[in-house]
Amino acid sequence: MKDFKTILFAIDFSQSSDYAFQYALSLAKKYDARLVIIHVINEPVDLRGFYVPHISFEKLEQEIEEGAKKMMEKFCRNQIKDYSKYETFIVPGIPYDEIIKKANEESADLILMGTHGRTGLDHVLFGSTAEKVVRKSPVPVMTVRFAE
Ligand code: AMP
Repeated sequence: MKDFKTILFAIDFSQSSDYAFQYALSLAKKYDARLVIIHVINEPVDLRGFYVPHISFEKLEQEIEEGAKKMMEKFCRNQIKDYSKYETFIVPGIPYDEIIKKANEESADLILMGTHGRTGLDHVLFGSTAEKVVRKSPVPVMTVRFAE
């Protein structure tokens, strides 16, 4: 079996991804691997300049990005106490697409994620991110089911 040198973890700040993170951290420690943590700011449709002026969209995007950064910092502060080999990324786009793109860019050996995300409604509208990543990723994927 190949070693895990880089593990990519996809986080949506749900209970499910918090739970899955315990596996990512534990594996990273075991293999002394680099842990790449990515959060994708979901951009399903581009309505810039359509309903509201361009400038207010830019401000909204800025605020969303700042909020996401703060959540990521808080998550890392609380969840990663004794491991320094990690990097975080916050990118806009379609989650499954960006997760696979980042795994390729960072030459990840494994993608790790939860099976459920933040809301059930997202599934109805956009389908499951985990399912799409599993189907399309050239990199092995480990999913962790969170039993409520
Ligand atoms: P889902 O299939 O959309 O219910 O989400 C399953 C898992 O995919 C979550 O537990 C996360 O690990 C990951 N995920 C979902 N949405 C995102 C996102 N926007 N950014 C990063 N990872 C995500």
